This record gives sequence, C-alpha cells and structure tokens, in this order.
Amino acid sequence: MGEDLEKLKQRFSLLDYLRQQNWVARPAGHGSEFVGLCPLHRDTRPSFYVNARKNLFYCHGCGQGGDLLRFIQLSRQLSFRQSLAYLQQHEAASADPAAVLEHAAAFYQQQLDRYPEALHYLKQRGLHDLALIKELRIGYAPGGSLRRHLTAQGYSCDLLQRLGLLDSQGHDAFYRRVVFSCCQGGRVINLYGRSIAAAFAHRFLPGSKGGLYGWEQVQQCPEVILVEGLFDYAVLWQAGFRHVTCSLGTHLNTYQFQQRCDRPRTIYLTFDVDANGSGQQASQQLADRLRARGISTRRVLLTDGHDPNSFFVQGGDARQFQSLLEAAQP
Ligand SMILES: [Zn+2]
Repeated sequence: MGEDLEKLKQRFSLLDYLRQQNWVARPAGHGSEFVGLCPLHRDTRPSFYVNARKNLFYCHGCGQGGDLLRFIQLSRQLSFRQSLAYLQQHEAASADPAAVLEHAAAFYQQQLDRYPEALHYLKQRGLHDLALIKELRIGYAPGGSLRRHLTAQGYSCDLLQRLGLLDSQGHDAFYRRVVFSCCQGGRVINLYGRSIAAAFAHRFLPGSKGGLYGWEQVQQCPEVILVEGLFDYAVLWQAGFRHVTCSLGTHLNTYQFQQRCDRPRTIYLTFDVDANGSGQQASQQLADRLRARGISTRRVLLTDGHDPNSFFVQGGDARQFQSLLEAAQP
C-alpha cells in the first residue's frame, strides 16, 4: 500500500492538478517554485506556494501545506481514503481517450437545446425531427465552455489538447459547430464538427475517423445505401431509410472498403452530383473496385447539383427517393 501510494503520488504533478483546477500562478524566483492566490482560503495577495520539484504546497496565509492528496482532502473536504479514491478515479479518467470523447459528446448534446441558432441550422439542413436528432446523438459546440466542463471532471488540459478537443492555446477547438459522434464498437472514437457559419470547412478531431459511419447497424442488411456526408445520412434516416451508411467523404480508407466486402450485398452508391463531376467519378471508381470483389453496386442518379441532403431539403420525399433507388443502374 505504502509503495503504491508513493507511486500514485509521483504519477501526478501537484502543479498540473492545480492548473487543471484553473489555478493561476507565476514563478516565484527559483526555477521550481510557483506562487498564486490560495484556493483554500479567501486570499487577496498571492500566498500559496508550490514547489514543483518536491510536489508540495504551503500557504503563508492559512498555514496549510502538504502534498497532492492533502490538497485534495482540504479542497474537496474528503477523508484520506476518499481522496485516494478520487485520485485513482481521476487517473482512470485521464487515461481513457474514448471516455473523454464520450463526455465531450454528451456535453455537446446537452448544449443543443440551449442554442436556437443550432436548431435553426439543423432545420435549414432538413433536420426537424427532434427525436431523431436525439437518437443520432447530434450535439452543438458553442465554443468556450467545453474546457471548463471537462477539467472540472478531472481531465487534464494536456490530455484534452492531445485529443484535439483544445487547440494549442488551450481554447475549445470546436466553436459554433454541429457535432456528430463517430463510433466503433459502441465507443466514441472521433467527433465531426460542421460549422453553422458557412465560412469554415467541416473538420474532425485528429486521429482515426474509424470505419463507415453507422456500419454496425446495417452490417446484416442485404442492401445498403452509401452516402458521402452525415447530413445525407441524417435526412435519409428521417425519411425512413435506415439501411444507410456514410463514408465521410468520397475517398474510402482501406478499412472502410473491406467492411463493405465482408459478404455479398448490393450497395446503392449515392454520392453528390456536383458540377465538376468529382462525386460521380469517385462513385464510378468505387463501383469498379467493389465489382472486382464480387459486390454488386447500383448508382443512384440524383439530378444535377444535388446530394441526398439537398434532394430532401428542396422538397423531395421518401417515395421519390425510393423511385430513384429502383431506377438505379448497375
Ligand atoms: Zn491559504
């Protein structure tokens, strides 16, 4: 126990912990000493000193001092045993990226209802079914509040920066963006943020996007509709087409391609019909590659300039889309 406890304490820097709790400090002369306002008493002049090398604090105002566990005991009013449990939990939370992304996704979902501009944007993109929006776990990143929320849960800024949730200056990376969660095996592995202001390109967090979006739900289906974008996916769901998956762009990574070839099935390629023909070109190439693997494909032809999202936004309905599926050519 004693040795484990020492190791646990060594793994945590008191200074990092305090900074996560938004303690503001300045160097106090020597290299490893810092000083700031005391978080344990009403302090008006900085009297709280931290020695980063020794991992200890001392306050000249209230006379408290000790190590990180002592600080947790005092600041959270916990017993020694409870502080130890808190620190262990804190460590588990800091270590698991999927848990952090899950927390971030849940936070963004809670924000959605509070920002009319986000719901307005979704409506513009053809999404009005609130139950469906909830089911798809769509959220909103207003910007400027995720950091506070997650650090209060014990996640370090360092971890949040590594995951790309915070930028290099420590600010929320997603700002005024509608957020979708990319999941694999029931765990959130990335977040997709679509700016509600037209000026900014959509983006993911760094790291893998994973496989096809929504693949796990359609894996057993003999017929699958493949779309490029998440708003295409969402409007098709809303129109009652649930055998849909999304490649998050026209370029499929190797893993996404393999997922599709795991058994015989028919794939309805429903890529954008854009002016420069890139969507259709990608669609043709993909059809050829899939056919070579024994997968049958049909190319769904939307009218010029349309993708499934704009098709529905501009008044297309489920019956019309169904006719397009039926008319799709190999
Ligand atoms: Zn104090």
